[in-house]
Amino acid sequence: MSITVYFAVIIVAVLLVTGVYAGILSRKQRKEYERLARTETFHCLRCDSVYTGPAGTETKECPACGYKNPKLKF
Ligand SMILES: [Zn+2]
Repeated sequence: MSITVYFAVIIVAVLLVTGVYAGILSRKQRKEYERLARTETFHCLRCDSVYTGPAGTETKECPACGYKNPKLKF
């Protein structure tokens, strides 16, 4: 095997490893985004804190002060 072919094989191997790594990272970020997208966001009218709850929840008690707040609508 000549040095050129050897060099080309190394470059292809590095590109494949980089592509697989980028694919794994992208999949991980997508899962994190989908988990976050399945939540509702709440803003406490009493203590001004922002918190999240499971999707489909209309009201949820504030974890800081216990006041029950409706979900935010965007
Ligand atoms: Zn609160």
